[in-house]
Amino acid sequence: MATPQNRKEESMAETIREAYIRRNPRSAELYPKFQAVFPTGVSHDMRVADPFPLCMARGQGARKWDVDGNEYIDFGMGSASLLLGHAHPAVVDALIKAAPDGSHFGQPIEAELEWGERVHSLIPCAEKTRFVGSGAEATMLAMRIARGSTGKEKIIRWQSHYHGWHDYAMPGTLPPFNVPASVGIPRGALESVIVLPPDLDALERTLATHTDIAGIITEGSGASYGSVPLRPGFVEGVRQLTERYGVVMILDEVITGFRWSPGGLQQKLGIIPDLCTLAKILTGGLPGGAVAGRDEVMHIMVRTGDAQRDRFQRVSHGGTFNANPYCAATGNATLKIVATGEMQEQADRMAERLRTGLRKLIDRHEVAACVYGDASTFHVYFGSSSIEGLDAHTLKNIPEEIQNGFRQALQVRGVDLMSRCSGVLSGIHTEADIDASLWAFDEAIKVMLEEGLLRQGWWIP
Ligand code: PLP
Repeated sequence: MATPQNRKEESMAETIREAYIRRNPRSAELYPKFQAVFPTGVSHDMRVADPFPLCMARGQGARKWDVDGNEYIDFGMGSASLLLGHAHPAVVDALIKAAPDGSHFGQPIEAELEWGERVHSLIPCAEKTRFVGSGAEATMLAMRIARGSTGKEKIIRWQSHYHGWHDYAMPGTLPPFNVPASVGIPRGALESVIVLPPDLDALERTLATHTDIAGIITEGSGASYGSVPLRPGFVEGVRQLTERYGVVMILDEVITGFRWSPGGLQQKLGIIPDLCTLAKILTGGLPGGAVAGRDEVMHIMVRTGDAQRDRFQRVSHGGTFNANPYCAATGNATLKIVATGEMQEQADRMAERLRTGLRKLIDRHEVAACVYGDASTFHVYFGSSSIEGLDAHTLKNIPEEIQNGFRQALQVRGVDLMSRCSGVLSGIHTEADIDASLWAFDEAIKVMLEEGLLRQGWWIP
């Protein structure tokens, strides 16, 4: 079995691609079967990989193993949902205890109440909460609440911020930002979204000249968990302008929630959005999400008993599996632990150690790259020694062959990322994990130099 301990034996005579293929015969064998069942062989566009994606078998703590028995120090952490690491004993125990009592009733359960109360004790803006089925469902509902509560139609969003895959979230996600990131989105949905560059002056001009703005949705970390950072004070500026113009501020905390602090980014910044969206850590890594917000805004969902108002002036919402017993159980087990802040502190410390180590490697190899990231995240940008002044289009446009080469060079050395040049940590990663990973990063840069994917002397082909 290939482990991080023996991965130094990987032959340097092989290319990154050859090593990837050699190490993963079972993943390679399964891929045509996946392709026969799923478009591009996957169930999420981000899982596509060339020549084939790795098929995973199990995870434990900061590690995971693929179907060929290769071990990885994991910086993907279930798409950032596992602040407690894979298969945390308290989460597994909660799931096992809940399992025999039934998976769903379509009726309130006490664990749901406990879960909601935990959200309220942690998240500053949470005066009322509604559980949903995913992060995308959370942003979709939050937008509907913003429209319903203001009686206005349009939602402002920022170029390249990610809010899920639904029709109102996709416009502006990928460059060119004036072309939606998918076909199949109806014109009505497109026309209801205004995509702006993250610039407070542009926002103020838009708010001053449009009377039909219901809300503004923001990934408070900056796009894609901070891969395109926002200027300091930006989120606070959005709060001020939304208050001034009577527009609903939606803070998308699907990733930052419970990660940037037990109370998310809003607690860290000391601001109270009108609504926030939560998912991922919220459920302890199972499917699910929530919209939480100020009572005054969430009130548009309440059935008052006034038939006229309830039928014609209320935000309606459903979802078979909202707050189902298994997700409520793992959510409660997770939020109980994340409430102490210890997991976040450890994850942040390890991320800082990793970012510092990576910067040293990049300096030593003299490649045109830089490392950045907030809280328990890290991002590597290949193409410049600083991201100062670089826009979303540039930061998200690292050449495909470099992104692929980097991720696969790491994978064949027992390290995996979340997306191709970025990762997140858990509170379970240790200094030993970081130091072992730095060896893999070092070797990955070396082999990328050898293959001509990177060149020394601060130059990128
Ligand atoms: N919002 C943000 C900031 C996200 O990162 C994501 C997913 O990564 C979503 C919304 C959508 O969440 P989900 O994939 O659970 O639908």
